[in-house]
Amino acid sequence: MGSGQVTPWQDRNITVAGLGVSGISAARALAGLGAVVTVVDGGDSEGHRARAAELEAEAKGVTVRLGDAETLPEGTELVVTSPGWKPDSPLFAAAAEAGVEVVGDVEIAWRLRGENAAPWLAITGTNGKTTTTQMLASILRAAGLETAAVGNIGTPIIDVVTGEEQYDVLAVELSSYQLHWAPSVRAHSAAVLNLAPDHLDWHGSMEAYAADKGRIYEGNTVACVYNVADPATERLVEEADVEEGCRAIGFTLGAPAPSMLGVVDGILVDRAFVQNRQKNAQELASVEDVNPPAPHNIANALAAAALARAFGVEPRAVRDGLRDFRPDFRPDAHRVAYVDEVDGVRYVDDSKATNTHAAEASLAAFEPVVWIAGGLAKGATFDELVRKSAKRLRGVVLMGADRALIAEALARHAPEVPVTDLERTDTGAMLAAVREAARLAEPGDTVLLAPACASMDMFANYNKRGDAFADAVRELASGSAADPA
Ligand code: ADP
Repeated sequence: MGSGQVTPWQDRNITVAGLGVSGISAARALAGLGAVVTVVDGGDSEGHRARAAELEAEAKGVTVRLGDAETLPEGTELVVTSPGWKPDSPLFAAAAEAGVEVVGDVEIAWRLRGENAAPWLAITGTNGKTTTTQMLASILRAAGLETAAVGNIGTPIIDVVTGEEQYDVLAVELSSYQLHWAPSVRAHSAAVLNLAPDHLDWHGSMEAYAADKGRIYEGNTVACVYNVADPATERLVEEADVEEGCRAIGFTLGAPAPSMLGVVDGILVDRAFVQNRQKNAQELASVEDVNPPAPHNIANALAAAALARAFGVEPRAVRDGLRDFRPDFRPDAHRVAYVDEVDGVRYVDDSKATNTHAAEASLAAFEPVVWIAGGLAKGATFDELVRKSAKRLRGVVLMGADRALIAEALARHAPEVPVTDLERTDTGAMLAAVREAARLAEPGDTVLLAPACASMDMFANYNKRGDAFADAVRELASGSAADPA
């Protein structure tokens, strides 16, 4: 939009909740369109003040209010929230009382899209979102399309839709939080990869979490992609209000029925986007084209392929895009990443397993396994995870704020498995955890960091937790692991 032009945002009083990456991006974009923006944040540290000063200096029309995240600034006409803020935050209660709408950064991005803007292929699910979104972007690129993986990853989505670059299509990862605050987003096609309890403290209940995930299908025009093995995802399709002619497309690790993608004799096949799908199937790629070819990742590849095919991408580009995708080379690793072998024991970092569903998938890949777990449970329970994984466990090392919940589940369902509770929540506990795991492990075993919990009680984020694990393994390998505690 050219400068000097009057926009619908001109002089609108907007409150942005949260001085983080998405909040700053929203504040800049809206002020750039003439809005009067107040960013509010409960923090008031040196870092907050420096960021606030920088934003106020560079973006005309932005004021930052630190140290108060609760009261609604006078005259607010719209609240734009960062995804992490809980729906029961006092600021939103104040907004509701004043009759002021609350939306998220993704909603703003959707409202700011220009005419002829790139359609969105959207992905959500409890696990596999980032991987699948990046696979999809890789496939779209292999088809010669201009695209970017955005949403919950990469460049803030507002910056992408308001930037100079023109895209043919966007691969959009959407978290349940973002969907909660994005009522009018309408994707070309969308996928829900799986649905397991997570973030229940934020959403309030499993039903509310599922309902927010299901929002991704609202208004789809071409395809709603669901997981055949996870009937809850198909139910969300059935409940969605979609455009006339939009199809339900399943993906399965088994042989596909008509209108599904699946696997036959090690080949990924499409029985949805082909002529005469009662009789025909189209070969897309081989299981070996998927990196790594673990079952959960083949499911991710099928979902990405379904969205690409819904957009009209040729089979060959699906294969090439999957081949080009090498998760090990991504900067955001920590997803079942091999670290090192010490004394015949392999050390694997799945710090990104921040919920029980992800931890279950990675524990299923190793046996015998010494499991390092614990952190913030986010309202989860651990009985099912422990019950399903018990027979693989050589031992368990626990740390973090909610470790007692895991210890109790182990006592109930795996009483014979040795458990060491470090009773620690300090960052240095990782070194002690690795040393203890090494003691429990025997040659041929795997030591797996798959915490099934969020990291913020001990680390800045899951990346830092994974880095600490890798550092501790290096110390162990160098034979110099001295526990400082
Ligand atoms: P998200 O963006 O949804 O958090 P990621 O692709 O970053 O998903 O993967 C998160 C975690 O879930 C990793 O530990 C990964 O190994 C695991 N994972 C990936 N895909 C799946 C899947 N389809 N089912 C279960 N676990 C998965």
